[in-house]
Parts: sequence; structure tokens; C-alpha cells
Amino acid sequence: MEAKEIFNERVSSGVPFYRVVKKGQTIRIVDLEGCQAVDTLFYNANDHEERYSASDTVREQGSIFITTGTKLLSNDDNVMLEVVADTCGNHDTLGGHCSAESNTVRFGHDKKYMHSCRDNYLLAIGELEMHPRDLTNNINFFMNVPVEEDGHLAIVDGISKGGDYVEMKAYMDVLVLISNCPQLNNPCNGFNPTPIQIIIKEA
Ligand SMILES: [Zn+2]
Repeated sequence: MEAKEIFNERVSSGVPFYRVVKKGQTIRIVDLEGCQAVDTLFYNANDHEERYSASDTVREQGSIFITTGTKLLSNDDNVMLEVVADTCGNHDTLGGHCSAESNTVRFGHDKKYMHSCRDNYLLAIGELEMHPRDLTNNINFFMNVPVEEDGHLAIVDGISKGGDYVEMKAYMDVLVLISNCPQLNNPCNGFNPTPIQIIIKEA
């Protein structure tokens, strides 16, 4: 039986998005034009103190990259979601999200006030009555952050093509919080932020 679509929305480049995905539902994130970075955080919808944990996820699966079969763990070691489909094959766990501070350090003082993922997150958590301390290390879907031989991280050109998607099944009621990255100063989104599509289906 075909799973019933219950939500389908285009999210413009550079804006925040949040929504609860119920246990058993799937969420698909489509990189409509390719090479976009989709900065994403997950919380237990019923207890925001429980949230996606990069370190627990990396340790348990023995890899720093996320793809089909990856179980995204919480800080309480519970499975929050599992990646059930992935046409891109490369999603970053380490790069974090851009901010006024990182814009300044990386690109110069004149870039401080350029729009950032942290601004998007702060806007969203204000509406959600959450706290800045809730903003922890996020996943960057479709962002290409290889580790060089000497251990350094690089943020390089994306490898996702238009229409590539990642789909996850929720193991608990999950609040999904996305910043569709507005960054214009590094190749995380090809210097050209583009829209994504969010599709949620019933079990
Ligand atoms: Zn960003």
C-alpha cells in the first residue's frame, strides 16, 4: 500500500522551517536544484531536552557520514530516526551551522551581518519558546565536508544533483528544525542558496 502523503511544502532558500514528524511517519528532504546545504536539528517533540546527538550517532555507527541505514541517536541513546533512502550518499555531521561569528572569523568583519543559519534558528526557537542553549551540533544534509589526510575538515563543492533526496523514518515524535542555509561566502551551497521540498508521509 502506498504511504499517504500528509504534508508537501516548498521551503525557500535561506529561511527556517520546523514541523513535528510523528512516530512511524517519514520525512523526505529534496534538494530541488542541487548543492544546497540543509542545516537540520531534531528534538523529541514531547521533551526538547532530548535531542539529536552527533557524537552518539557517530560513535554507534562508526562513521562520521550519514547515509541509508544510519540511525540518528539522541543524547539519551535512543534512536530518533533512521535514514531509509538517500540518493546523495554524503551528509555532514561535523561542520555545524553558520553564524555572525563564523562569518566574521572566516570571511571578514564586513560579512558579520550577512544572513546566517544561526539567525534562522534563533527566529524559529523564539516561536517555539525554546532557548539558544537548545541549539546544538546539527546535521548538514547535502553538505560536502571531507576530512583531509592531516585530519582537517574542508567545506567543498557539493555533490548533490537537482532532485536528490534523503528520507528518514521517525522512531519517536520528532520536532524537525531546519535552516535552509543562506550562506553566500563558501561553497557549502554553491554560493547560490536554493529551495528544498519537504514531504511527510503516514506510516
Ligand atoms: Zn548556514
